[in-house]
Amino acid sequence: MPNTLPLGSISPAVPFPPPGIRWVVFDVVGTLVEPWPAVPIAYQRAAAREGIEAGPDDLRQRFAAAWRRQELIDAAAPIPFATSRAREAGRWRGIVHEVFADAAPEPVRERVFADLWQHFADPAAWRPLERGRALVQEAIAAGCGVVLASNFDERLLAIAGHLEPLCRASHVFASSELGWRKPAPAFFRAVESRLGCTADQLILVGDDPRLDVAAARAAGWQALAIGE
Ligand SMILES: [Mg+2]
Repeated sequence: MPNTLPLGSISPAVPFPPPGIRWVVFDVVGTLVEPWPAVPIAYQRAAAREGIEAGPDDLRQRFAAAWRRQELIDAAAPIPFATSRAREAGRWRGIVHEVFADAAPEPVRERVFADLWQHFADPAAWRPLERGRALVQEAIAAGCGVVLASNFDERLLAIAGHLEPLCRASHVFASSELGWRKPAPAFFRAVESRLGCTADQLILVGDDPRLDVAAARAAGWQALAIGE
């Protein structure tokens, strides 16, 4: 009997989590939570507390350029994407100093950096993303473990306990603690080792096509882009 269903109806929807998955590993920023107020506004307010005037559009562009520069430093390092608490603090110090390089002298920029470091350590600086929260619930309902694995630093450990849906995770892995950042294969190997499981039992859910999705697949994991 000829199949008269439209083509799009024949393929069954891919289940989530897929069969055989034991742990669903979530990226954090942009996947489960986002900064709120948005980063340029947080930077604008911290700068204003030091008497620096800056517009959010300019700050957005400067932040993006400074963030990319720090990523390039990690990619070009003798051991690419190796990290530590000191390197992560250095990243954010470097970003803040670059963003305000033309706007304030070094001691003032350093105070803005300290202000912003504290700001983003506060659970109140973040808000949940609905799609991510739904996927966390689906993972739990399916009997899978929920894990956080983020290019963040030790501040994430304190934030995660006080913020939905991060507080649903049984394990929190921050790059500064693992010693590796995504997209390094060693980041994914370190998570496997801590969980005591193999790549085929893991799926990463993330918002970054390169750092999350492509990197996880290169490590032999399944991956789901949060926008799909
Ligand atoms: Mg992200």
